[in-house]
Amino acid sequence: MVQISVIGAGSVVFTGRLIVDLCLTRSLFSSTVVLMDIDKKRLNMMYNLATKYAREMNTDLSIKKTMDREEALNGADFVINTVKVGGYEPMEIERKIAENHGYYRGSGDRVSDYYGGIGAFHQLKFFLDLASDVEEICPDAWLIQAANPVFEGTTLISRETKAKVVGVCHGHSGYIDVLKTLDLKQEDVTVKMAGFNHNIWLVDFLYNDENAYPILDQWIKKKAEEYWKSDEYLNSPPWTAEQMSPAAVDMYRIFGLFPIGDTLRSASPWWYHTDLKTKQRWFGPSGGFDSEIGWSMYLDLLREVLEQMRVWASDPGTALTEVYPPTFSGEQHIPFIDAIANDKKVQLQLNIPNKGMISGIPDDVVVEVPVLVDRIGVRAIRIGQLPKRLMLHVMMPRMLRMEQVLQAFLDGDRESLLLMIAEDRRTRSFEDARALLEEQLGESWNSEAAKHYK
Ligand code: NAD
Repeated sequence: MVQISVIGAGSVVFTGRLIVDLCLTRSLFSSTVVLMDIDKKRLNMMYNLATKYAREMNTDLSIKKTMDREEALNGADFVINTVKVGGYEPMEIERKIAENHGYYRGSGDRVSDYYGGIGAFHQLKFFLDLASDVEEICPDAWLIQAANPVFEGTTLISRETKAKVVGVCHGHSGYIDVLKTLDLKQEDVTVKMAGFNHNIWLVDFLYNDENAYPILDQWIKKKAEEYWKSDEYLNSPPWTAEQMSPAAVDMYRIFGLFPIGDTLRSASPWWYHTDLKTKQRWFGPSGGFDSEIGWSMYLDLLREVLEQMRVWASDPGTALTEVYPPTFSGEQHIPFIDAIANDKKVQLQLNIPNKGMISGIPDDVVVEVPVLVDRIGVRAIRIGQLPKRLMLHVMMPRMLRMEQVLQAFLDGDRESLLLMIAEDRRTRSFEDARALLEEQLGESWNSEAAKHYK
């Protein structure tokens, strides 16, 4: 059976869900799972939880742990990357510095920079190191890239290494919130979403094989205003509220397709994000996922989940299957592995090089599209043209930014980093942009980046 190696196995977001999904997938029961992390305490905690869960679920999973990456990659058929270099704290320091220079909620891309630090340096460097190791130690393994930034990261790995890489993200499941709000049953609906990671759009939306966009149009016309006053909307956490927010409806009006999931965060126009009050108008009372309120709620949630895991891991009396009931998480890692390892054809939403699927995007740019997966591998479903305005005002600028981030990283080009900050519409002068960049690179966690970008 297969060996699945999880790098960054202390991940609060992923490891628990992956273990539950594995324990529900009988055809993978005799697999070996190798958990690898550099944080010994987190690794031990996840290992204890995973072994206990697997035992309670009566699986034959063989679960191992190691702090040695080479050991984890040895013999791997699938490598899952869930690493967050340095945790979230250093990025908050960078954000604070940018705010002191007048950039509300930080400079640059609302999601990618924050998840990878300045120029996404720490994450991209780690991704390339890991993919090079995969090339060398387990060249036939699939590398499942879940760590952010998925768009930049998967494109970088697929261009610079021979590792067989796919990017995964659970953001596309935002379409389920669309169906819930419209009161449509999932089994009666067919959807196709396409774009870049954190920038995907509902290109096909069928209800009982008929175009369902008119149902959405009717909801917008007759029910949206009432919904935005409802407790359901006003009390939803930001990551749920965003999906059917005024921002989503306005983006649909402007670009002609409905935005899904994290698209609301990273592909929405700047004028929804100028200050907290404006964000609240567009994204609900919390001001959306990336406002000072929404992001703090998210970090608090991560801390609470971690603390809860610690308590469960250290209490042998806790029946884990009771506190963490065995239902599929909706993550795609395990269904992907099951499809390849056991030749089960499934449709997933993955990030892979475009190769003609979306017209007008170069072949070597990674796109997020529906794909069919089985033992043969990954086959994309052709999407074709996106609306022109969406292409020119959202997709192409985002693609260009990805290219700029990768060029600056690969060439160690400090001037490129500076130009990216200078182009931010809030920049008052080139000198200010330079001062911000130098201050951020002067932070101790950026000492390696400061040497890299010459
Ligand atoms: P986390 O901080 O809880 O976990 C990251 C783990 O990586 C930690 O245990 C840390 O010790 C480990 N790590 C750091 N450097 C390492 C190294 N060099 N080698 C091995 N392990 C190392 O983070 P999280 O909140 O679980 O998020 C993990 C990643 O997943 C982030 O990049 C996040 O942005 C991303 N994410 C992706 C999605 C998606 O759907 N694709 C959703 C949420 C989060």
